[in-house]
Amino acid sequence: MTAALTADLRALVGDAGVGDPADRRWGRDATESQGVEGRPDAVVLPASTEEVRAVVAWCCERALPIVPRGGGSGFAGGAVPVHGGVVVALDRMARVRSFDPLLWRIHVEAGLRTSELRRIARESGLLFPPDPGAAEQSQIGGNIATNAGGPHAFKYGVTGRWVTGLEAVVPPGEVVAVGGPLRKDVAGYDLKSLLIGSEGTLGIVTAAWLRLIPAPEAAAPAIALYPDARTGCGAIERVLGSGIQAAAIEYLDAGTLAAAGPAAPFDVPSGAFAVIAEADGSAAETAAVAAALREALADDALLVHAPERAADVAALWRWRDGIAIAVTAQRGGKMSEDVAVPLDRLADAIEATLEIGARHRLPACSWGHAGDGNLHATFMVDAADREELKRASAAAAELFATAAAMGGTISGEHGLGWVKRGHLGHQWNDATLRLHRAVKTAIDPQNLMNPGKKV
Ligand SMILES: Cc1cc2nc3c(=O)[nH]c(=O)nc-3n(C[C@H](O)[C@H](O)[C@H](O)COP(=O)(O)OP(=O)(O)OC[C@H]3O[C@@H](n4cnc5c(N)ncnc54)[C@H](O)[C@@H]3O)c2cc1C
Repeated sequence: MTAALTADLRALVGDAGVGDPADRRWGRDATESQGVEGRPDAVVLPASTEEVRAVVAWCCERALPIVPRGGGSGFAGGAVPVHGGVVVALDRMARVRSFDPLLWRIHVEAGLRTSELRRIARESGLLFPPDPGAAEQSQIGGNIATNAGGPHAFKYGVTGRWVTGLEAVVPPGEVVAVGGPLRKDVAGYDLKSLLIGSEGTLGIVTAAWLRLIPAPEAAAPAIALYPDARTGCGAIERVLGSGIQAAAIEYLDAGTLAAAGPAAPFDVPSGAFAVIAEADGSAAETAAVAAALREALADDALLVHAPERAADVAALWRWRDGIAIAVTAQRGGKMSEDVAVPLDRLADAIEATLEIGARHRLPACSWGHAGDGNLHATFMVDAADREELKRASAAAAELFATAAAMGGTISGEHGLGWVKRGHLGHQWNDATLRLHRAVKTAIDPQNLMNPGKKV
C-alpha cells in the first residue's frame, strides 16, 4: 500500500517531491529521547503552494491523515506520524518571495530555516526577534505552527507577534490568505491568530509575511549566581520592579547547573541557582541598562559575571543553547515540559518540579525563560526503560495539574502536540473545550489534519 501511495503522489509532485517512508527521520522529532516515534505511509516534499494544495485535496478524497512537518525540532511530538498517514515536509519551500529592508518586512515560504531568516535580516541591519533554541533546524512554518518563543520573547514577544500575513492550505484542499504586508488589519475574525499555534491541526502554512525591526546595536548579558531558587527568583522580581527593560531573563536551577556547569564559561559554585539577564539597544542604552541590571542582580548574589567582548557574549549564549543536550546526556533521555506560571509563582513551580520528580523516583531539574514565567521542567529518564517512561508521564501529568492550579498553562511555547494531548482540561472548562473542538470541526470536518494532536 505504501508503495502504491508513493507512486500516486509522485504523479502530483514529481520524483524529487517524494521521500522514503522507511527513512526513520520522517517518523521522529525532538521527542525521540522520550521514545515517541511513528511511521508514515508516505512522505511528500512539495515545491509550491499549488503542490501542497493538490496533495491535501488528494489526501482528503482518500481520507488519509496529513502530518505537516517543518524541521522536526518540536518538543511535543507534533510532527510525528503516530497514526501513519502522509507526512508533508516543507523543506523544498524555502524561498524568499520578497524582501523590503527599507520597509522592515519580508515575505517567505514556510520551509525557510529560522537561522537563515535571521541571517538574511541581519545582513540588512534588521532583526527577526523570535529565537527558539533549535534555529539551525527549525523552519519558520514550524515556528508559526507552534507560536514558538525563546529567550528574547521576554522583550520582543513570541513568533505570532511578528506575523502580519499568512498563506495556508486547508481541507479539503483550498488556499486561504489572511493579512499581508500590512501593519494593521482588524477586518474579519482573527483567522491569522487562529492558524498561528494550531500545530498543523487546521491547515498547512505555506508562506508568511513577517515584520522586522532594526537590529539592536549592542547586547550585554550578565549571569548572576545565587544560593537557592527563592533568592534567585527574588532577584528576577527586583529587576522587573525596578522598571528595567531587559531583553531576556533566563534561569537555570541547581540540577541543570550540575549537568551543564562543567562546560560553563565561568565558575559555578556547587548547588547554585543562575539568572542570566541581557540588555540590548543602542550602545549608550545598552551600557545604561546593563549597569542597572548588574546592580539589581548583585544584591544577594554569590557572584555576577558580565562578559564584554563579543566572543565571550557569544560563548555564554552558545553554552545556554546547549543546556538541553547536557541535561539529556545525564541519563540518555528526558521528559522536558514547558509549563508557564504567573511570575510570582515561579519559585513555587521550580520547587514543585523537584518534589514531583522525587515522588515519582526520577531526578528532576528545570531551566527556562524566567521573565515569562516559562519553565522547562524536566524529568531525566533512561529512554529505553518503559517503566521509567511511564513514571515520567505520570510526573508530567502531575506537573500540568500543578501549573494550572497556580494559574498557569500546560504549554508556554512547545504546544500540546501528541505528548500533551488530552491535558487541556487541566486549564479550561467544558464549555471552552467544546468551543475549541468546534473550531477544529469547522475547518477540518474529516479530522485529517494532524489527527490526535492538540485537540
Ligand atoms: C534544542 C532545542 C531548543 C528549543 N528551544 C525552544 C525555545 O527556546 N522556544 C520554543 O518555543 N521552542 C523551542 N524548541 C522547540 C522547537 O524548536 C520549536 O517548537 C520550533 O518552532 C519547531 O519548528 P520545526 O520547524 O522544527 O517544527 P516541527 O517540529 O517540524 O513541527 C512542530 C509542529 O508544527 C507543525 N508544523 C510544522 N510546519 C508546519 C507548517 N508549515 N504548517 C503547519 N504546521 C506545521 C507540525 O505538524 C507540528 O505539529 C526547541 C527545540 C530544541 C530541539
